[in-house]
Amino acid sequence: MKHTIAIVGAGLSGLLTARVLVDRGASVIVLEKSRGVGGRMATKRVGDAVFDQGAQYFTARDPAFQACVQDWIVQGTAARWPSSTHRWIGQPAMTAIGKHLSAGLTIERERKVTAARRHAAGCWELDIEEHGMIRAERLVLTAPVPQSLAILDAGGVVLPAELHARLRAITYHPCLALLVVLDGSSDVPVEGVVPDSGPLRWIGDNVKKGISPQVPAAVTLHASAAFSTQHYGRPEAEVSALLLEAARPWFAGRGVVTTTLHRWKFSEPRTEFGEPCVWLPELTLGLAGDGFGGARVEGAALSGLALAGRVATHLMH
Ligand SMILES: Cc1cc2nc3c(=O)[nH]c(=O)nc-3n(C[C@H](O)[C@H](O)[C@H](O)COP(=O)(O)OP(=O)(O)OC[C@H]3O[C@@H](n4cnc5c(N)ncnc54)[C@H](O)[C@@H]3O)c2cc1C
Repeated sequence: MKHTIAIVGAGLSGLLTARVLVDRGASVIVLEKSRGVGGRMATKRVGDAVFDQGAQYFTARDPAFQACVQDWIVQGTAARWPSSTHRWIGQPAMTAIGKHLSAGLTIERERKVTAARRHAAGCWELDIEEHGMIRAERLVLTAPVPQSLAILDAGGVVLPAELHARLRAITYHPCLALLVVLDGSSDVPVEGVVPDSGPLRWIGDNVKKGISPQVPAAVTLHASAAFSTQHYGRPEAEVSALLLEAARPWFAGRGVVTTTLHRWKFSEPRTEFGEPCVWLPELTLGLAGDGFGGARVEGAALSGLALAGRVATHLMH
């Protein structure tokens, strides 16, 4: 079957692009390599404990994103971080935002796109790992930029040289995330901790945040970019021990019940593109994501909205 638009990635930028285009009557298919939606706005359950393991909260400064957040609040999908006036969280947890945006969209999960080729007929052919191929008239890539470029490279797509060089220059920090269940309450303040040195850059207690009521403490630890780069490939036990040691002052002497390590290879862009998205009408190809809109949830959202606007204009001509 040939779709009007294929979108690779069901993170916030891909879902918002899809949402806007479907609301304008386009036929859209979203292909997502994971089992869930939301990308880096991810929530993980470990036994009774619930952790936001990627984005911890989001801010909304731009009126276009403020309008999205307002809609999510009305729908019961977002709420204020307890005690904060400017931080927003997903309800009941971060992954709720992706689930909410997915309603009514055609999303194929566990579909990893490995290559995109321009067909002689002017459409796109996408290879999907272990699931054959699909065709689409237009292609939108919303994975972290190195992953999007790998898809195009595998299909032999030649981008304008200057654009290709600018895209190649977008690289990402890794982030090691350790999810820790304690046997008693932590000393992490409700607003979390942002250490300004050492191995950690974030300590947040999901119980105090209000998303994990069934355990005494469920702490998300995010390692700094320097630590994550240095220790990315090290064994889980070694990394966990180092991060637990760094977080010990906030554990109130409590015992550690479980730890789960997640390795984010592409956590946040080090450098940004400088424009909210890319749309190449001659190739009917678009790219969006936080590598374009800015290294935050809001940046990803604004990028998706910007690209949806460009594609919608193209569809009208
Ligand atoms: C540890 C961490 C902490 C963060 N903290 C914050 C925070 O507190 N506040 C904040 O505002 N932002 C934070 N961020 C950043 C924020 O999460 C991101 O900027 C935003 O979620 C990016 O959305 P996106 O749509 O651009 O990309 P993603 O969410 O990465 O979505 C891309 C999607 O594409 C899929 N994909 C990739 N390759 C393929 C393929 N070949 N085929 C099919 N699908 C594919 C992925 O599985 C993913 O679902 C954090 C990020 C991390 C990792």
